[in-house]
Amino acid sequence: HGGRMRAAVGSEGGGIKDDTDSLNVAVIGAGISGLLTARELLREKHRVTVFEKSDKLGGTWVYEPQVEEDDVLHLDPNRSIVHSSLYSSLRTNLPRPLMGFSDYSFEDKSYGDRRTFPGHDEVLKFLQDFATEFGVTKVIRFKSEVVRVDSSDGVFVVEWRTMKVGTVAEVFDAVVVCNGHHTEPRVADDVPGIKDWSRKQAHSHNYRVPDPYQDQVVVVIGNGPSALDISQEIATVAKEVHLSSRSSNVKVSRLDGYKNMWQHSKINHVYDDGKVVFQDGDSIEADFILHCTGYKFHFPFLSTNNNVHVDDNRVGPLYKHVFPPQLAPRLAFVGITYNQGVLFRMLELQSKWVALVFSGKILLPSEDEMLVDVYKYYQQMEENGIPKRYTHTLDFKFEYVDWLAAQVGFGIEDRLKEICRNLLRQFILSPNDIREEFRL
Ligand code: FAD
Repeated sequence: HGGRMRAAVGSEGGGIKDDTDSLNVAVIGAGISGLLTARELLREKHRVTVFEKSDKLGGTWVYEPQVEEDDVLHLDPNRSIVHSSLYSSLRTNLPRPLMGFSDYSFEDKSYGDRRTFPGHDEVLKFLQDFATEFGVTKVIRFKSEVVRVDSSDGVFVVEWRTMKVGTVAEVFDAVVVCNGHHTEPRVADDVPGIKDWSRKQAHSHNYRVPDPYQDQVVVVIGNGPSALDISQEIATVAKEVHLSSRSSNVKVSRLDGYKNMWQHSKINHVYDDGKVVFQDGDSIEADFILHCTGYKFHFPFLSTNNNVHVDDNRVGPLYKHVFPPQLAPRLAFVGITYNQGVLFRMLELQSKWVALVFSGKILLPSEDEMLVDVYKYYQQMEENGIPKRYTHTLDFKFEYVDWLAAQVGFGIEDRLKEICRNLLRQFILSPNDIREEFRL
């Protein structure tokens, strides 16, 4: 399996391709995935329109101080959605060298914050410069939200909406979905009793600053990067912080270096008088439950006759996490995969692959072959006991990026892979202060 290279057509050697090769492509979203995709499509001489619902590029990296005012357990689909989940103090959890692109490094740039793990502003400025440098900014239609993509007649009808003009329908040859997946909260709604909990609760999507947690007894559910960062920050103002991980065989223990923070197992039950009982046998009275339990994929605008759907956070079927076999090669998704190590470079490789497939320089396998590949992957996950919801989680593994690299003809330097391995080693040694302890 795998894409096959065939002789380049049209723009080989930098020549202008003739118009028949040039596709009219809609890219949904101007975050990193959309910016990279637009750049690669422009390089391939396609006609590109990037639809961005906000008035800024950068997606997640555009800090938004406001939060959604909503009940986290019963989200109103018509609520006013805030896209970014960044908190004010956020610093990258990857060192600079891992957060650049193959030909546009983040290492040799500084916008005032020279730290190896810089603050979020620094990343946004880098992305703004990237978009300007490669002529992407001028193909973005800001304040233009895609509300519907219909693929029923062999072409794509994209309906998009602006405050000024209302809803407009436009036909495209191809669509690349780059709408991000850190906006729609996934909550721990299976905790027994949580639906009757009458005290405060929130999701990390709506965490910005620690102030609302002053003097509170807080339970933080989750143990991902946001749970680690946010619990440490809250501990500076809260009365107590109790971390609850998914595991049931954790023994309650106070965290090293903290007077007011404990690690617990999974929650057994919560009660409406504030009592929280953990499976480790301990119980506390809490004021606040904070869900740091991740996000859901969400494509409210896609109408693809169920050729792509989301099931327990599996977007599928998607060949190599990018192309839905039934609609390939003209519909693609960039940015579905999670990769803790070389995310930016992986997105670059995905976008390059998509652009070369659109140009006909790389041929995809047949629909059946792609489907077989996808189901083989699902089967391997099952055999290895990996739950469905981790379908797109490829933490610190290079197999997938190496596969993409082989398709597009350039890969990820050994130096970066070595940095990833060292980072992982350091993370295992000191997960709580990785930014202070890690040396390049
Ligand atoms: P996004 O950045 O989410 O961009 C999607 C864009 O699509 C947005 O601009 C949105 O407005 C637009 N959009 C959505 N729907 C529509 C629509 N219908 N019509 C038009 N436009 C639409 N990664 C790292 O590499 N290092 C880190 O340190 C790191 N820290 C993180 C910390 C947090 C708290 C979070 C949430 C994520 C972090 N990430 C980190 C991962 C981060 O998601 C990626 O870095 C990156 O932002 C993903 O880019 P994206 O373009 O795929 O999606």
